[in-house]
Amino acid sequence: MAIQILPPDVASQIAAGEVVERPASVVKELIENALDAGANQIAIRCLSAGKKLIEVSDNGEGISREELPLAVHRHATSKIRSAHDLWRIRTLGFRGEALASIGSISRLTITSRPPQQEVGYRLQVEGGAEPQIEAVGAPQGTTVSVEDLFFNVPARRKFLKSDVTERQRIEGIVTDYALAFPQVQFQLTQENRLSFTSSGNGERREILANLLGVEEANQLIEVWFEESDFRVVGFVSPPGLTRSNRREIHLYVNHRPIQDNLLSSAVLQAYHTLLMVGRYPLVWLFIELDAGKVDVNVHPTKAEVRFLDAGRIFGQVQHAVRRSLTTAVPFASSSTLPVWQPPFDQIQRQSIESVPNSSTAHASSQPQATEFPTFEQKIPLLRWIGQVANTYVIAEGPDGLYLVDQHAAHERVLFERFLRQAPMSISSQKLLQPSLLSLTPTQAQQFEQQISILNRLGFEIVPFGVNTYQVRAIPAIFSGIDGALAVRATVEDFEEDEEPLRRETEKRLIARICKRAAVKAGQSLSPEEQKALLQELETCQSPRTCPHGRPTMIHLSVALLERQFGRRGAI
Ligand code: ADP
Ligand code: MG
Repeated sequence: MAIQILPPDVASQIAAGEVVERPASVVKELIENALDAGANQIAIRCLSAGKKLIEVSDNGEGISREELPLAVHRHATSKIRSAHDLWRIRTLGFRGEALASIGSISRLTITSRPPQQEVGYRLQVEGGAEPQIEAVGAPQGTTVSVEDLFFNVPARRKFLKSDVTERQRIEGIVTDYALAFPQVQFQLTQENRLSFTSSGNGERREILANLLGVEEANQLIEVWFEESDFRVVGFVSPPGLTRSNRREIHLYVNHRPIQDNLLSSAVLQAYHTLLMVGRYPLVWLFIELDAGKVDVNVHPTKAEVRFLDAGRIFGQVQHAVRRSLTTAVPFASSSTLPVWQPPFDQIQRQSIESVPNSSTAHASSQPQATEFPTFEQKIPLLRWIGQVANTYVIAEGPDGLYLVDQHAAHERVLFERFLRQAPMSISSQKLLQPSLLSLTPTQAQQFEQQISILNRLGFEIVPFGVNTYQVRAIPAIFSGIDGALAVRATVEDFEEDEEPLRRETEKRLIARICKRAAVKAGQSLSPEEQKALLQELETCQSPRTCPHGRPTMIHLSVALLERQFGRRGAI
């Protein structure tokens, strides 16, 4: 076939395919335009999940009579003038193609009146045809109506999900922007029913309460971190409030909702050891940085950005979240210290993979510590009852029965015991009988990299011949435990869900050692040992999970027992 330039309508439809995938994409573009026009009231109305009608009205600056035809012209924009401007974008749009694209795949009507104009004008385009303009009476601002989306691209229509799903996506977009712009009043009506509103009073927690319910919204922990040219604020859930997927991790850069897997991972890393495997936190983080330090022109729907200094941003975000999570936990009784300083951080600061720039952060000086919600994580006082299968300790709490996995619980206890010590004052205990550790050449190579860290953590390990080491002392908190054996854990098989990092942080090393040192399932414990274990677990920060994220206990509430025995409602 010969090469030919495509007719403009075909080219437009191809371009539209990139920007407009589904009704929610239209809603996104129209909301962005309203926000760029400085509106503080935006109303969105949809019929048939946006397939029949999407209408977005705003009270922004409007479009003048002369400029109306340009608005639907491809690559016509009021927002940038040159390529250079791409590096100082403060608006949400800048490519000048959304309206042109939408106009090529729907019946598009724009009604607008800028404040200085007495009458409004209405422009209509259908499937990319020549626009028609007429004068009409109109309030100040702009209303864009998109009817019969994809009427001329039936293939696209076929790919849409159920109406319920498409409506949810629309609602997702509206709420994303309502949170990004809490000073703007949003109203969403779907199928003639009000489905979401925000008051525009600037209170993000209030909007979250609309989405999650008051109870969950109140549990969210505030994040607030600022450095010269960088700021991250928002909310994260305490470890007791989670979901089974990452869908409630919301990230924003300069008021733009974005997807960024690496950044999400950085956030999840901040929860390391706090969440059970397969559970994800609820996160809303609003990152603000110099427009010149982020490229927003890398994705067709602007859903991704590229940071010039990604490593630094991730480090800062992770640190900010971790800080908020740890300062939000009142340590045992909160009366002793106004703000609990997490031992985690003390250790992290020295660690070989320490978070960049963390020392200059001032998030710790927040005065709000007293009003932070407490974690649901904590467990009540437990009364020891017995043990099953030499593995599970049975206990009673004020609200039912607890089955505690002795191995996982002991791992958690050892781990926190270790982290609680100030790094400078870790005390060692000399072994009466130094023990020898013989390793394979590969293990030895790996072990060599850990020795200095282990020695800093209270071990005393010296080379003792080829691939052999002598363990002379172990941290005092491990007394009574075969610490030398536990050291092996640093070079032995990695669990399935553990990444075998060549350079392990102290915390990871400690977690591995604790796993090895902890009592095993099936190992018989005296009633006194079991009671002591329960007591220590009660004092833990995160008693419900082991450092690797698995549950330490199962709680059978009285309510659950009643339901199971058919007592609920019965007399
Ligand atoms: P972009 O937003 O990238 O500039 P669009 O195709 O979305 O491109 O819009 C084209 C132009 O139309 C905008 O630059 C703006 O000048 C104008 N415009 C669109 N929507 C509105 C609105 N709701 N209020 C005022 N002006 C608008
Ligand atoms: Mg736009």
